Amino acid sequence: DVPVICIDGPTASGKGTLADELAQALGFWVLDSGALYRATAWAALQAGLDLNDEAAVAPLAATLPLRFAGGQVYLGEENVTEALRQEAVGLGASTVAALPAVRQALHALQLGFRRVPGLVADGRDMGTAIFPDAPLKVFLTASAAQRAQRRHKQLIFKGVSANIEGLLADLEARDLRDKTRSASPLKPAQDARLLDNSDLTIEASVDQVLAWWADQRPF
Ligand code: C5P
Repeated sequence: DVPVICIDGPTASGKGTLADELAQALGFWVLDSGALYRATAWAALQAGLDLNDEAAVAPLAATLPLRFAGGQVYLGEENVTEALRQEAVGLGASTVAALPAVRQALHALQLGFRRVPGLVADGRDMGTAIFPDAPLKVFLTASAAQRAQRRHKQLIFKGVSANIEGLLADLEARDLRDKTRSASPLKPAQDARLLDNSDLTIEASVDQVLAWWADQRPF
């Protein structure tokens, strides 16, 4: 069995960074499952679809020509890395993510990322729905204020202006939608380990998960 480490948690909790560092440390593949929902939303917006139109959006999700290469995301020939990071696309992703037929369409695609020697998968339902047999599941949390502040710093760093109150409101709206939807709502798996990284450095979070991983291995 190819091992999977699941990293689930709310928006801007640091899942992506943690997943990348773990994958690097262990030589594992990485799946940024949010990118699949973002790509679906982006493709639907490009096609002028209503993001709540399940019958129209699900076929797009089922045939996404998505490719990850060299830290970039491609949709067909187009490099959509930057486009997918836009706040509006993240919000759109949480809209299409509430549609059961979209989640269904992306399910098999996600399973395909499980390859030797192992996978670190980040998202909302990696441990609850996609890889329920994963030997290690981590549920990452951080206060909303802390997450808004981190996102703010990232934007400033990129030269984008943003206000913390607006970012906080967006995060909370997205969290609420992710937690209250009926299809695979955001919640820790029963056997998930909780990690609150509000006051942890990235290194400390990585070390904690690596220690859990070392504990977990049967050899
Ligand atoms: O993690 P990221 O911010 O890229 O995810 C964008 C949106 O995609 C989330 O707000 C969530 O609604 C949805 N998503 C999901 N299940 C996942 C990953 C992301 O529903 N496994």
